[in-house]
Amino acid sequence: MTKETWGQVCNALQKTIGRNNYVTWIEPLRLNGLANGIAHFDVPTNFMRDWVSRNYGEQIRQQLIRLGADVDRVEFTVTAAQPAAVPGPEPKPVPIEKVTRSRAKSPARTEDADLPAAPLDARFTFDSFVVGKPNELAHAAARRVAEGGPVTFNPLFLYGGVGLGKTHLMHAIAHELQARQPELRVLYLSAEQFMYRFIQALRDKQIMDFKELFRSVDVLMVDDVQFIAGKDSTQEEFFHTFNALVDQNKQIIISADRAPGEIKDLEDRIKSRLQCGLVVDLHPTDYELRLGILQQKAEMYRQQYPGLTLSGGVLEFLAHRITTNVRVLEGALTRLFAFASLVGREITLDLAQDCLADILRASERKVTIEEIQRKVAEHYNIRLSDMIGPKRVRTIARPRQVAMYLSKHMTTRSLPEIGRRFGGRDHTTIMHGIRKVEELMGVDSQLREDLDLLRRLLEA
Ligand code: ADP
Ligand code: MG
Repeated sequence: MTKETWGQVCNALQKTIGRNNYVTWIEPLRLNGLANGIAHFDVPTNFMRDWVSRNYGEQIRQQLIRLGADVDRVEFTVTAAQPAAVPGPEPKPVPIEKVTRSRAKSPARTEDADLPAAPLDARFTFDSFVVGKPNELAHAAARRVAEGGPVTFNPLFLYGGVGLGKTHLMHAIAHELQARQPELRVLYLSAEQFMYRFIQALRDKQIMDFKELFRSVDVLMVDDVQFIAGKDSTQEEFFHTFNALVDQNKQIIISADRAPGEIKDLEDRIKSRLQCGLVVDLHPTDYELRLGILQQKAEMYRQQYPGLTLSGGVLEFLAHRITTNVRVLEGALTRLFAFASLVGREITLDLAQDCLADILRASERKVTIEEIQRKVAEHYNIRLSDMIGPKRVRTIARPRQVAMYLSKHMTTRSLPEIGRRFGGRDHTTIMHGIRKVEELMGVDSQLREDLDLLRRLLEA
């Protein structure tokens, strides 16, 4: 059985059991192969093993069979060491045939039966989007476009790392536009779906229909456009669609995981077209934003599970510890509430640590000595090469010692290993450097502040 088959099973499950359940129970599973009619999965905890096998085992088996796998049984094995809750690949968009059919059920569909739009997630609205410093520009730009006034920037290009809210904002724009101007033809789809549509049209010799369709919309949104990089004829078609719509002054909204100029294998003319409008990025979340998001979700869960109490400090703890992305943060909270309601216990720090051990472990930030050297050199405005070089003047030796100190405290490297990375110095030199910093910390408040700042920068 291939990864792809499992990917398809995941898609199907996501539709039948809902996204929350999917993220909580299915995403952490790791397929470990199929042998003698038994599909083996790794799960992070005993609790998850019992729950998943009881509630979803049969569904998983049925789906696998449906896709042609020969499965009599599914087995789940607890493997504590795996980084289970690291987000898997983005959930694959549903194939387009399904999309078109399921549109009938989608609450936020456009009225045109022929638009190949992907369904919108009803929960991804502006109301449910928590605004903080890292995303305030992107949010403001999205709001502006959602007002549906005259087109002022075209395209709106949103970019940022995985799970930072790009798709959420795009759906929010679509919801808002449809509420304000129901007659607008708003087309939202992923770049992958665009490609799929395009290939289908080529195959069925309906390329004229394809072109006409895409040129007839009022607002085009293409999510994860980095996907078409390197796919030449799709790029070409995208370029023409894009230009045709811009010429008609229709709004285009694009998202990607990086800035236009940084998308490899994307034609230069497309890059420069994408840069023509407004390019805004979603920065990695900060502590306040994460806490805000957790508070909002916790409020929702409190209504869903009225019997549960949430101890003080739990959300703060999670906001502090889970810094990877919002999807993981949400998944953690979902699991926590599900677990607490199941066992009928109050949600305390202890419970959170138990129930989320795998997620917490996976989100431990691993800082490297190289990163430390780079940040410290930047901070003190010295050359990176001087960090490891032989110079002994104070202005260079002190930052070097600071970097040694941080390397000792923020990584698991031994003194000899640290020595090697500081230009092959002896471990006693490293020890001396660390002691020096510890000594100075007691008397030098500026140094304490520097260390504090550097630590935070490195942990962010
Ligand atoms: P991306 O498309 O950038 O990978 P998503 O838009 O899919 O990320 O967001 C991942 C999850 O995190 C979604 O469930 C989304 O609702 C949630 N999320 C991200 N940012 C925010 C935010 N600022 N406020 C509320 N929820 C958010
Ligand atoms: Mg997305």
